[in-house]
Formats: sequence, structure tokens, C-alpha cells
Amino acid sequence: MAVSLYQRETLIEQLQTTKNWDVIIIGGGASGLGIALDSVTRGYKTLLLEQIDFAKGTSSRSTKLVHGGVRYLAQGNIDLVREALYERGLMLKNASHLVSNQSFIIPNYNLWDRLKYTVGLKLYDFLAGKLSFGKSVGISKTTTTSRLTTIKPDKLKGGVVYHDGQFDDSRLAINIAQTSIEKGATILNYCKVTGLLKDDEGIVSGVIAHDIETDKSYKLNARVVINATGVFTDEVLQMDDNKAKNIVRPSQGIHLVLDKSFLPGNDAIMIPKTDDGRVLFLVPWHDKVVVGTTDTLLDSHSLEPKPLEKEVDFIIDTANRYLNKKVSRKDVLSIFAGLRPLAAPKDNSEKTKEISRSHKIIVSSSELITITGGKWTTYRRMAQDTVNKAISLGKLSNEMCKTKDQLIHGATENVDRSNHLYIYGTDQVHIEKLIKNEPGLGEKLHPKLGFTKAEVVWAVRNEMSRTIEDVLARRVRMLFLDARAAISSAPLVAEILAKELGKDKVWERQQIDDFTTIAKQYVL
Ligand SMILES: Cc1cc2nc3c(=O)[nH]c(=O)nc-3n(C[C@H](O)[C@H](O)[C@H](O)COP(=O)(O)OP(=O)(O)OC[C@H]3O[C@@H](n4cnc5c(N)ncnc54)[C@H](O)[C@@H]3O)c2cc1C
Repeated sequence: MAVSLYQRETLIEQLQTTKNWDVIIIGGGASGLGIALDSVTRGYKTLLLEQIDFAKGTSSRSTKLVHGGVRYLAQGNIDLVREALYERGLMLKNASHLVSNQSFIIPNYNLWDRLKYTVGLKLYDFLAGKLSFGKSVGISKTTTTSRLTTIKPDKLKGGVVYHDGQFDDSRLAINIAQTSIEKGATILNYCKVTGLLKDDEGIVSGVIAHDIETDKSYKLNARVVINATGVFTDEVLQMDDNKAKNIVRPSQGIHLVLDKSFLPGNDAIMIPKTDDGRVLFLVPWHDKVVVGTTDTLLDSHSLEPKPLEKEVDFIIDTANRYLNKKVSRKDVLSIFAGLRPLAAPKDNSEKTKEISRSHKIIVSSSELITITGGKWTTYRRMAQDTVNKAISLGKLSNEMCKTKDQLIHGATENVDRSNHLYIYGTDQVHIEKLIKNEPGLGEKLHPKLGFTKAEVVWAVRNEMSRTIEDVLARRVRMLFLDARAAISSAPLVAEILAKELGKDKVWERQQIDDFTTIAKQYVL
């Protein structure tokens, strides 16, 4: 077998042999990976370190929308919406295998709402300019109920249809990591930054990285260190200055995943104002329906945030107000929670407020650069601004950003969504070839879902998977689509992983136990 670019041994060797990096990025979510791609394509020697797996944090737990944010339009935040709509257009162009055009219907119950959303969404279309995903239109009650066959018809007056994007978040993260590696970056998962190095003047000059697999630590030098750690931001800021105040407070958002029969057809539903004043989405995703989200302030963060009972009740109750197919707890196939980094209040008198969804770049006196906030949709722009900031500080030579037209690994417009392997884009043929050469790899991991053994082999050889969870949560998404099916597939996945990675039965057993513990949280 040819040595793959993405093999851990190759990447660790690069870590050991490179004396000086231009840019080291801490955190392998949307923000960090976007910065790695921006940095390496400008020609800088780039290293990204992720403590667990790519998109293990918030970046695999989004609502899966590539959107301008109709909600922010209602708040009058025109510039933010325009910027996100532009990025939405670039994402569709550059990651065409993973991003698709999704129609949304807002059900209307009075004429005033109908008028308001029709006019508002015309503005949304206008702001998208040439990168529009399609015109919004008002539709009658009959059309609404024929397109949304499970919507309750009582008091319904009609609907407004608009278009946004929909995607697979963690697969995009992996594909951005692969693209960055292909361009020459070193991108490593299971490598945690445990400390910062400083020069005599107190300027950050590198990091201490700990390889979780071998227990080895490395001192790595860099011109620029970027903190892109989401809700972990304060931990890195406190490595820099142990007296640093917290700047981030987590707010949790949960989603429930239901069978497609709760929302047959191709349209998503957007409920613009729920009882708590938020937006609720019901979105078709990989032949299931994702319903969310909530906004619950927490006092602490974790890698596996736990959905609260009141959040579950809120989503089920709200869905049941709009759907005539009753949702109950036993219908939930998977439940997942993610954390937004909100701005922590500066003192007790100040209310906690959300970091405006436009991102924020902070430069510490040690010249550590921190990026926080933003959203998946704007990851490319956030990266551009962060690298530009490092240039403006005189830390890097002045090179132009090149990501506007940079295709992401796998990008192809030749997508046949009837085959679930479409998500691999240009890699689909390679997975089909694996199955052709070894037909046993075409067997399904679980009878209820289409994922095959070949995808596990592919995930280890080419997508840097190291654990059952990497495969079932973030490469094939089974944990997010049907948590019980994922738990019962774990032994089979462990066996394939052990064979690929040269591990023994003890490792396999431990993997199954670790995965089952985590996966049980996704079962309601
Ligand atoms: C409920 C919810 C729904 C959302 N829906 C959408 C949506 O539909 N569309 C959209 O555009 N946006 C959405 N967003 C926003 C989007 O998901 C986030 O903006 C984005 O994922 C944040 O990425 P990040 O890289 O900043 O953080 P994260 O994804 O959390 O990544 C930070 C990473 O840093 C790593 N890390 C931390 N400390 C260290 C260390 N010491 N060493 C190495 N690594 C470290 C973590 O393990 C983690 O992987 C949503 C957010 C939430 C919470």
C-alpha cells in the first residue's frame, strides 16, 4: 500500500523535523482548520494541533446550515448577513459535494407575518446578489400543506419559501484538513497544547504539544501562535497569563434527530419565533430530520455537553405545536448538544451578552492571537481576517489570501445524492474501488443504515481516524443519525480499526467501552 499523505507517522515526523513554524494553530474546529488552509495557501509553514479529533467540539454539533442568518436580518444586522451570504455562495462553489441548496418554508398564521417575511426575505435575496440560492416566494395554504405533508393545517394561512444552504459539518472539517495537508501543512489530531513558549521579552514564541497516543511532549517554535479553541479559549489565555479573566461563557444548543417520516419531502421548516424568542429549524439531513436548537447559558464547558431535560421538552413541545405526526421521546434517534462561546460579563452589573455573531480577534500583550465567535458559514472569512491580523502586526510577510477560489478536497459538481457515498465527492470512486477489490468491504455496518465496512477502512487510511468515535461520530455520522445503531456497530468498527492500525484485542475492548460510554449520551 502506498504511504498516505495523511498517515500519522508521516505527520509526526514533520512535527519532529521542522525547526521553526511560521504559524501554529491551536484547535481543529471550523475556525482553526480554516486558518490552517488560509495560512498554508499563502505560503507559510503551518502546523495545526487538535487535542482530540477534528470537529470534536462545536464544529460537529451545528444545525448543519450554511446561511446568512434570517434571524440577524430581523435584528437589522445587514453587514453580517451580507458577509455570510457571500461566504455561503463560496462554500457552495468550493465544497459542492457537501453543501446543497435547501428550500425552507416559514408557515404563516396571519397576514401581517406573511407580509413581513415576504418583504424581509426579498431583502435577504437581494443581499445575496449574484450568489443567490433562489428567489423567495409566498405560497398558498394548499401548496404549503402539499409540500409539508405533516404540518398542522389549523389556522394556517400559507407559507413563505426561501433558500439557504445545508451541509455536513464534520465532513467539511475533515476535508479542509485534507486540503491543508495536500497544500503542505501539518495537521494533527490527538495532540494537545499544554503550554506556551515565550521569549525574553514575554512574546509568545511557540507551544508545548503533547501527543496523546505516545505520551511524548514537543517544544515547537513559531512566529505566530493562534488560539482557535472555541469554548476552551480561556484555558489557552490562562496558559498565557494565569491571571487572565474569563472572556467566554458557554451557551448550549441541542438538537434532536428524528425519522424522515416526521418531515417527508424536500423542504425544511423554519419557525421564526418560538416561546423563548428563538428560531427553530426542522431540516432534512442524510435521510433523517434534525430539529433544533436551544440557547441555555451554562457555568462550565466540556467536550461532551449534556442536553438538559427542559431543552428536550422545549423542542418536542414546539415541534408538536406545528406537526400533526406526534413526536415523543421514543422517536428520538439521536440527541446532541453543542456550545457557543458567548462573551462573559465583565462584572456582575453587566448582563451576559452574545458575542456578536461576527467574529472577534483579540491580540494579547504577548502577541498571542485569539479568534472567537463567528459561525461555520463564515469560517473562510474569519481565517482571512485572522491571518491578515498577524500580517498587520508585522509577524508574517505580506502575502495575499488565496482561499476565495480554493476547492476543498472532494469538491465536484457531479453529485448523485441517491447514493449515500456522494458525500465523499471525488473520493467516492476510490471507496467503490476498495469494495470492488474486496467485496466483503461492501457489507453494511448496520442493517438500518447504508454505511459500509469500506468507509471505515477509508476513514483510517485517508481521513486520520484513530478511534471508533472518530469514525462513527465524525466520518460516517452514524452516532448523530441513530445512536443505538452506532452502539451496536461499535464491535465491528473496532475490529476493522484494530486490523488497520495493528492493535490488539485489549485495545479493541477498551475502544468499545469508551465509545459506548460516550454514545449512551446520544440516546434519549
Ligand atoms: C447549537 C449550535 C448550532 C449551530 N449551528 C450553526 C449552523 O447551522 N450554521 C453555522 O454556520 N454555524 C452554526 N453554529 C456555529 C458554529 O458551529 C461554530 O461557530 C463553529 O463550529 C465554531 O468552531 P470553532 O473552531 O471556533 O470551535 P470548536 O469547533 O469548538 O473547535 C475548537 C477546538 O479546539 C480544540 N482544543 C481546545 N483546547 C485545545 C488545546 N489545548 N490543544 C489543542 N486543541 C484544543 C477542541 O478540542 C475543539 O475541537 C452553531 C453553533 C451551535 C452551538
